[in-house]
Amino acid sequence: MAFDAEAVRREFPILSRQVNGKPLVYLDSAASAQKPRAVIEAMTHAMEYSYANVHRGLHTLANETTDAYEAARRAVAGFINAAETEIVFTKGATEAINLVASGLGASLQAGDEIVLSQMEHHANIVPWHFLRERKGVVLKWVPVLDDGRLDVAAYQDLLGPRTRVVALSHMSNVLGTVNDAKALTQMARAAGALVLFDGCQAIVHQPVDVKDIGADFYVFSGHKLYGPTGIGVLYGKAERLAALPPYQGGGEMIATVSKDAITYADPPHRFEAGTPAILEAIGLGAAIQWLTAQDRSAIAAHEQRLYAHVRDRVAGLNWLRVIGEAPGKGAILSFTVEGAHAHDVAQILDRYGVAVRAGTHCAEPLMRRFGVTSSARASFALYNTLDEADAFVDALTKTQAFFA
Ligand code: PMP
Repeated sequence: MAFDAEAVRREFPILSRQVNGKPLVYLDSAASAQKPRAVIEAMTHAMEYSYANVHRGLHTLANETTDAYEAARRAVAGFINAAETEIVFTKGATEAINLVASGLGASLQAGDEIVLSQMEHHANIVPWHFLRERKGVVLKWVPVLDDGRLDVAAYQDLLGPRTRVVALSHMSNVLGTVNDAKALTQMARAAGALVLFDGCQAIVHQPVDVKDIGADFYVFSGHKLYGPTGIGVLYGKAERLAALPPYQGGGEMIATVSKDAITYADPPHRFEAGTPAILEAIGLGAAIQWLTAQDRSAIAAHEQRLYAHVRDRVAGLNWLRVIGEAPGKGAILSFTVEGAHAHDVAQILDRYGVAVRAGTHCAEPLMRRFGVTSSARASFALYNTLDEADAFVDALTKTQAFFA
């Protein structure tokens, strides 16, 4: 049965608003997705009914809130087929990657190699640059082919005896390219390297089984997954987290503290110093529960249908360049309009109620690879409709007329 996007839309209160006198057409979900009522209500319910700090109370509200926070961890673990103790709550994917890079950095030497790709988000570049600056590690870059695929042959060639870490995007936020995380992991492991996947985009659109992929670390943010901001996930294999030094110090991450010694709590608490994002974790748990109750393969087919429709409609437009045409790619259309800056395109589209992202998408090496300084990006989510896809292309055609 076809996925009923109209029915799902009604669960997202924000989607019924207007922008500039036009119905909102929200095509910026790759930057941050809108929230279903289930998420809003779970967070409101916690604040209105059962809220206290976690892990430290002996009273009812503290215990209830701790249960809800840990239930969210359980939901995340189940969602990606991990153990609860392998799930660390962070502020977002960015913090999760910084946590891993800083922890692994402690044992890296000058000349050790870290393999990244040209399609990485800055969140999966800059923390590794820190190690280049501070430890003298060498960054190696997997090229991206003209159609947006990762150059897997070049990746194989880059892997060598000094490769310590491979950190790659599971799905590109610009190209929509979906990388074969399992195969890339196997190749890295054969070279003896640790593997981190940035799953920010992939986790939204496909089932992710971290055991099957086999990577050491997998990270994502809550806010792209229909959950709140301020919460993200670091999955780490139990033995990897156990070997990782703590990232921040403070309450709740220690076992004992005296004037001249400290011992650390076991993972995941070792990496959750201070009061965590309690409400946001509860919201993420609700988002995962909500998404799990949907037919995810029908959603994926729906998103693909939207993308194919738009791609077909723009195929004949000689003033439009699409960046990223990898087979099996996700529903992200990055494009440039001849003679127009992407920022201007986005601003004019906004007049028609159409929200797209424009800029470098925090992926400057990728922009450079494709010889552009910026692009516009329409990203499709489960709540978008074919009518919206048409509204976007119609608005884009009118937008182009300003520059013709
Ligand atoms: N990686 C990818 C592929 C992303 O799309 C994003 C968000 N744009 C990030 C990392 C960073 O996520 P956050 O800002 O939520 O930490």
